[in-house]
Amino acid sequence: MEQFKKGSVHFKGVVKKYGSVTALKKLDLAIDPGQLVTLLGPSGCGKTTTLRLIAGLESATNGKIIIGGEDVTHLSATYRKVSMVFQSYALFPHMSVAENVAYGLTVQSMPKRQAMEKAEQGLEMVGLTGFGSRLPSELSGGQQQRVAVARAVVLEPEVLLLDEPLSNLDAKLRRHVREKIRQIQQELKLTAVYVTHDQEEAMAVSDRIIVMKNSEIAQEGTPHDLYERPNSAFIADFIGDSNLIDCDIVSSNEDGTNIQLGDKQLRIASQTELSGRAKAVLRPHHVSLRPANRDAAFIGEVSYAAYLGNEIQYSVQSDLGELFVIAQATAQPISVGQSVGIDMPTDKMRLVPMD
Ligand code: ATP
Repeated sequence: MEQFKKGSVHFKGVVKKYGSVTALKKLDLAIDPGQLVTLLGPSGCGKTTTLRLIAGLESATNGKIIIGGEDVTHLSATYRKVSMVFQSYALFPHMSVAENVAYGLTVQSMPKRQAMEKAEQGLEMVGLTGFGSRLPSELSGGQQQRVAVARAVVLEPEVLLLDEPLSNLDAKLRRHVREKIRQIQQELKLTAVYVTHDQEEAMAVSDRIIVMKNSEIAQEGTPHDLYERPNSAFIADFIGDSNLIDCDIVSSNEDGTNIQLGDKQLRIASQTELSGRAKAVLRPHHVSLRPANRDAAFIGEVSYAAYLGNEIQYSVQSDLGELFVIAQATAQPISVGQSVGIDMPTDKMRLVPMD
């Protein structure tokens, strides 16, 4: 018999259809208590549908949803121990900030004074002590979103759901609010499910990321797993930047893999299950350029250079196609039009299927 802990979320073969549109194809999901798990993926892949199914705002066409060991598949949203933070904050404009935070507690029949005390504690948690008597319109977007987080957290939900909570904020505020959310989630050891289509945001806040594509899971793992061990060209391209270079697998055994890359044969230390055509993944900061080195294994010409303060980004036209290269800004800059030797460290290469 499977054990489900308080605060855990499980999907067992969950299908969601809207008429003829399949929003989720048989999703299996296991979220551990106290973890912040992000659902990440391009528009329309099923992230929001998954979140709304956990909240009970949508009902599953098929399969089971289990929260903290309780089968909630047919339980209405009101009775689920979850609270949600929306992209649009959804604060009541005519109520003070403190009343907004206390609202859910009073709906649960908590006496007003006690609810207002808890609201003050919630505001303190999100760094808004002293803002309780203001109206939401008297706060910045970032502050309003922190109020929405306080309102969700004071309800002591078993699972906190966040639907693109930073989308309405500008870049600087986004970083500040995401740090706050992560800090509170860790302090309270809350289970949180966070939806975003921003890979950097997902990497920054998550214990685990579930990448979705075409209504199913493409890969899941820690941010480190996904970055270091992408299982497909899609993941390699979606999580961080990658060079994806067509190659042929010549042979592979437990000692390593020989690949044909352009007119060169290279050896990669790891074994692969793949055969025939594949793509070699190499991160831009692992490629290095040596000016005017015509003896290197690969050569090319710099077609674009951008100085970004802490790094320099190059596009290089090479026999292997266009390569994206990131160098430390401390390295000697290379001008557009200059010939370069290209070092492609095979110990940093990974092989993924063609599509
Ligand atoms: P986005 O990042 O754009 O919000 P998403 O990954 O959250 O996208 P969902 O909103 O879960 O995607 O939608 C998944 C699929 O289900 C899409 O094809 C979408 O058009 C469809 N869909 C979502 N809600 C409905 C609905 N109420 N009626 C019909 N189709 C829907």
